[in-house]
Amino acid sequence: MVNQALNEVVQKIRKAGLAKFKGRSGATFWKEKDFLGKEVNAGVVILPTLGCRWGRSSGCTMCGYVYDSYGSSQEEILHNFKAALKSLDGIEYLKIFNSGSFFDSAEITQDTARKIFSAINAQSEITQVQAESRPEFITEDALAAKDELQAILEIGIGLETTSDYIRENCINKNFTLEDFKRALKICKNSGVKVKAYLLVKPPFLSEKEAIGDAIASAIDAYKLGVDRISFNPVNVQRATLVEYLWKRGEYNPPWLWSVVEILESVKKKVKVPVLSHPTAVGKRRGAHNCGECDSKVYSGIINFSATQQSKYLKNLSCECKEKWEAQVELEQFEH
Ligand code: SF4
Ligand SMILES: [Zn+2]
Repeated sequence: MVNQALNEVVQKIRKAGLAKFKGRSGATFWKEKDFLGKEVNAGVVILPTLGCRWGRSSGCTMCGYVYDSYGSSQEEILHNFKAALKSLDGIEYLKIFNSGSFFDSAEITQDTARKIFSAINAQSEITQVQAESRPEFITEDALAAKDELQAILEIGIGLETTSDYIRENCINKNFTLEDFKRALKICKNSGVKVKAYLLVKPPFLSEKEAIGDAIASAIDAYKLGVDRISFNPVNVQRATLVEYLWKRGEYNPPWLWSVVEILESVKKKVKVPVLSHPTAVGKRRGAHNCGECDSKVYSGIINFSATQQSKYLKNLSCECKEKWEAQVELEQFEH
């Protein structure tokens, strides 16, 4: 389900981007704090594969991850993963991102998935593992690989919004809420947890509309039964429709104050962990405030995400908050 006019524009930008960028071969990894009933050390591995199937043919309006993908063989993928895992000692939670779908066998075969899970078992302190996938690749057959894994499996799905209208006309995601619900049901039946990723400020929405959509989507996702909610504020990635609009002054990444408001508001309304690990914070291409308070507000968001304690958000202040409030109110009349 796509908006043909939007899809054609995205395809054109994608074709030019794919011709220009080469991709990266090795895995990138780091440690960060996260929340599994308590604050825990988490490891993040970005694992290059062939890349997202939808992203290669067209893709989402904000996503340039496909340019980092690389035609790695299954042996290389496994080798890169094991090398990264070796450096991530002392973690309880492992998050694997392949900038596509872990359960798309064109990216990661079931045999490689099993070998990845088996390698994780050797690190016994890891209690939960997150892999990401579009809903269409979540099937009972694909999830059979999970039998190899001793830890709890969680699948992160980029639902982005519970509005089919916004997902189709602003994000070009090419799946529906029904597709998400079907995948969620399969996960639940297989004992797999689901984390819903929600987008903060897709293009063509005002700041106020974006805040409203993020909050409403989180409540909907919670009611549907997701186990965790993670907000991704848009950052302007190369060769994307978002970058095209941004260069023309027609798109701005969200304010960090908007992310704070969303987290505070959602935390009061749902009983599952609410998280955000924004990237490119404080940069022109990432979520930002005035520049003076960006790192302080970012730390508040990170500490809140790792502890689920709203005190880290409540105490934040800066002169620019009034400017943000005024812009949120005024912008709605400009549309
Ligand atoms: S956001 Fe996800 S589904 Fe969309 S193009 Fe990027 S990797 Fe693919
Ligand atoms: Zn400020």
